[in-house]
Amino acid sequence: KFITLEGMDGAGKSTHIPDILAQLQTRGVEVISTREPGGTALGEQLREVLLHTPMAAETESLLMFAARQEHLSTLILPALERGAYVLSDRFTDASFAYQHGGRGLAAERIAQLEQWVQQGLQPDLTLLFDVPVEVSVQRLAAARTPDKFERESADFFRRIRRAYLDRAQQFPERFRIIDSNQPLEQVKLAVRAALSTL
Ligand code: C5P
Repeated sequence: KFITLEGMDGAGKSTHIPDILAQLQTRGVEVISTREPGGTALGEQLREVLLHTPMAAETESLLMFAARQEHLSTLILPALERGAYVLSDRFTDASFAYQHGGRGLAAERIAQLEQWVQQGLQPDLTLLFDVPVEVSVQRLAAARTPDKFERESADFFRRIRRAYLDRAQQFPERFRIIDSNQPLEQVKLAVRAALSTL
């Protein structure tokens, strides 16, 4: 099974990874935890470039999908084939949210890359951690030194949130929206409920 975590920066998805892994491990199957951009040696090198170098939205998309291809070919697909659970912190929905929603590239162009790289493969379950933009911006300001994306305007993040919610509406069978703007314990319960449907 292939599970992806999505949401704006500051939505809190990474906080829940240990809990999700622990829950999946109780099923007695191999569980792999990975992230995008990254997940492989080459992917992590591309991540460094992507997070700190200004570039055209098209270039950004191509590099994201180059990293994703490597991730799929060398890690995700082999793991799925041997029956493992793969948990990825971000996947292609992030390309629709950031490069289409955020940076304005036509969704159709992202969809072309998606088709080329994934050839029909989609996550079995996508947890979308959703918070109002004001909340994510506040959390980020308190938490860490921003990367290139995190220095963008509130308007940029509003477009990202919208694009994520559009994706969720478009693919309701695999998306679960997690209201991340509630006490941590409540969010944990929502995450557990979503996972139990798998
Ligand atoms: O989730 P994480 O914070 O590790 O993501 C790294 C950065 O890359 C984030 O700022 C995220 O917004 C950005 N990103 C992006 N486009 C993607 C995936 C991630 O702009 N397709």
